[in-house]
Amino acid sequence: MIELREVSKTYGDTPAIDGLSLAIGRGELVALIGASGSGKSTLLKMINRLVEHDRGMVLFQGEQVRSFRPEDLRRRMGYAIQSIGLFPHWSVARNVATVPVLLGWPAARIAARVDELLALLGLDPALYRGRYPHQLSGGQQQRVGVARGLAVDPNILLMDEPFGAVDPIVRRELQQELVRLQQELDKTVVFVTHDIEEAFLLGDQVVILQQGGFIAQVGSPKQILSAPANDFVASFIGAERGKRALHVESHGGNDVLVDSEGRVAGVLVGSNGPVAADPTPGRESPTPGREREAQGEIR
Ligand code: ADP
Repeated sequence: MIELREVSKTYGDTPAIDGLSLAIGRGELVALIGASGSGKSTLLKMINRLVEHDRGMVLFQGEQVRSFRPEDLRRRMGYAIQSIGLFPHWSVARNVATVPVLLGWPAARIAARVDELLALLGLDPALYRGRYPHQLSGGQQQRVGVARGLAVDPNILLMDEPFGAVDPIVRRELQQELVRLQQELDKTVVFVTHDIEEAFLLGDQVVILQQGGFIAQVGSPKQILSAPANDFVASFIGAERGKRALHVESHGGNDVLVDSEGRVAGVLVGSNGPVAADPTPGRESPTPGREREAQGEIR
């Protein structure tokens, strides 16, 4: 669906991405993780041409992104960032409707789509469509941001630290929501995070970036955790601390992510169900997400 071939991007004299190659398949949820400044945002923005690459090729469905008009590309790729991305003086409905309005959709179609998306994201349209961002909690603002990213039903959702500004419990809810949406709507999702547990819990594929935009390793969480490609990755997942690194254990038929302190961080996506991370330190028995979802617990 998306392919980067030997792509480079330099700002001034500093290479942010250098000769990076990566293939992202349809329907995958890919987590980009790495230290601040390692080029995660740059990589994401080169996909929708918010940043133009200098060398190499970025392909979307087999065609170079450069061959698309940026607005056509962005219509097909939702983009969600931290809640600061909402326009403060616009209502929730107007924020969600940003792209449909730009595209000149009829008002009735826009209103129906806004309500549909708010409901999908667990926000009662009657209550929330007329509110302003400052009248929402951080988690609600981020839901609105995701709704806005999905407004014109893009094939791809690009997310830059989408859950960066919320507390751990809300973050867990939003993570579960993302997995549910991705599975229900069959989207390809590429998301940037600096939270290592989030990357390993949510990603079908995890891409670990090193300074200068080098890929240290790409693989499923289990592949990376069981066979770190090099010392950098080993140190990244905590194997250098003389303790057990972040690792996967099998509990009751689920693959469970366990941190270096022995705390359960959650159930891996692609195990028996969506993530069920528990931010409570020391809690040892995660609840399989799909069962909770069936019980309507995931908001
Ligand atoms: P990350 O998302 O991993 O924090 P970025 O992609 O934002 O990394 O940045 C990668 C490198 O490129 C950093 O060294 C950063 O300072 C630099 N950089 C990013 N955007 C710009 C810009 N617009 N102008 C100059 N340098 C930039």
